[in-house]
Amino acid sequence: MSEPTPPATGTTSGAEPARREGTAIARQSSAAPATTAPGKRSSWLPGPAQGFGVTFATMFKKVTTESYPEVPKQTKPRYHGRHVLNRHPDGLEKCVGCELCAWACPADAIYVEGGDNTEDARFSPGERYGAVYQINYLRCIFCGLCIEACPTRSLTMSNDFELADDDRQALIYTKEQLMAPLLPGMEQPPHPMRLGEDEQDYYVRAPQPGSGAEPVIGERA
Ligand code: SF4
Ligand code: SF4
Repeated sequence: MSEPTPPATGTTSGAEPARREGTAIARQSSAAPATTAPGKRSSWLPGPAQGFGVTFATMFKKVTTESYPEVPKQTKPRYHGRHVLNRHPDGLEKCVGCELCAWACPADAIYVEGGDNTEDARFSPGERYGAVYQINYLRCIFCGLCIEACPTRSLTMSNDFELADDDRQALIYTKEQLMAPLLPGMEQPPHPMRLGEDEQDYYVRAPQPGSGAEPVIGERA
């Protein structure tokens, strides 16, 4: 006949097992509220009066009224709104159709198809341009990862937040909708490069005085 196995929580040994100590501590803490005096109210007012106090205090606060859309709301300067595809100072497009923005997008909201520039039809400096560009604002979460990924600073975000529509198709913005408007001195592409001999003059080399070209790499202003 074998000897009886001592109970796991037995107290025959001199040292208390760690598990047993833990149990004792837990029992002590759970029993603590029962031995303490009931808590006192933080206010002498009855409960319903304390609740309505919040209501009454709010009634006398200054009311903030937004008159939108009659008065457009001013966003913070760095608000992430509708995207813009920017241009070089001569009107050529900064987008080179590399698709890095589409790969960076966590919501799969961007669709890009690159095209080849030719000497007869040039839309951007260099070899390639964004022939098809779409952003689906039903998917976009305005995180800004796409503009961080863009190597030419073609893609930026504006402060325009008025993107609601009752037509799903209308919320897929095309390249024509996203392109920045032509400013004075710009020319509607396609046209030859006006600011240098090759794309290095647009992207790398310092602009010639008076040329209006601007370096793009490293620009984060
Ligand atoms: S802001 Fe974010 S979700 Fe919207 S298109 Fe850019 S990467 Fe995609
Ligand atoms: S917007 Fe920028 S990242 Fe996107 S395809 Fe054009 S150049 Fe590439």
